[in-house]
Amino acid sequence: MKFTKRQIERYSRQIILKKIGVIGQKKLLKSSVLIVGAGGLGSPIAIYLTALGVGKIGIIDKDNIEISNLSRQIIFSTNDLKKNKSSIAINKLRKINPDIQFKSFNKKLTKKNINQIAKNYDLIVDGSDNFRTRFLINDYCLQNKKILVSGAISKFDGQVYTFNFSKKKSPCLRCFIPNMPVNPDIDNCEYEGVLGTLGGIVGTIQANEIIKEILGIGDTLCGYVLIIDGLKLTFRKVKLNKRSDCYCNEKKG
Ligand SMILES: [Zn+2]
Repeated sequence: MKFTKRQIERYSRQIILKKIGVIGQKKLLKSSVLIVGAGGLGSPIAIYLTALGVGKIGIIDKDNIEISNLSRQIIFSTNDLKKNKSSIAINKLRKINPDIQFKSFNKKLTKKNINQIAKNYDLIVDGSDNFRTRFLINDYCLQNKKILVSGAISKFDGQVYTFNFSKKKSPCLRCFIPNMPVNPDIDNCEYEGVLGTLGGIVGTIQANEIIKEILGIGDTLCGYVLIIDGLKLTFRKVKLNKRSDCYCNEKKG
């Protein structure tokens, strides 16, 4: 892969970084990320990954844009109402960076289709709004040793997890939340509310984790959970140990 003059200019502020350079930037352009959910988290995740040059991006979301989404799903505009989220998001992202190869999946992620969709991507970033999807992605990434960066927001709070399942020590989401909550399909933002900026804070940290995992730089959150209190503005990095009786241990024997 050879950079054009324009690409060198576009990515110059990253290429200048010793930890990235031309080699790192090429690595980003050769990487592929699937974003699950084009919502409050998916918006900043998609914008940043596109802008900074992740070469192949898939977005899956079956929902249409509703007016109540607009307070936090910053990739959408008022004139996008009733249209499909993943398609509209990609229309906007193409304008940000024409280098990127996009694919829109206008469907719900299920046990049946997850392999077909996710197998073409190296890393998965979870910005979904319900526990059923979060657990489904966790289990798929665990079985297929894919890197997963998961995020959640509710009220004024947020959490971020990074799981690198190629590392034996990596815990999984079930180590932290052993049982599926009683109502796994409920969108907490709808019932409990959420401050729009939390999507930006958590989603941007997720994008940052993805980039570090692709480049193999810095310390990722693998083995920890980041707990964010947006009101007190505290960021607590709490050790997340692999539970001996967890699904992730059983699967690895
Ligand atoms: Zn586990």
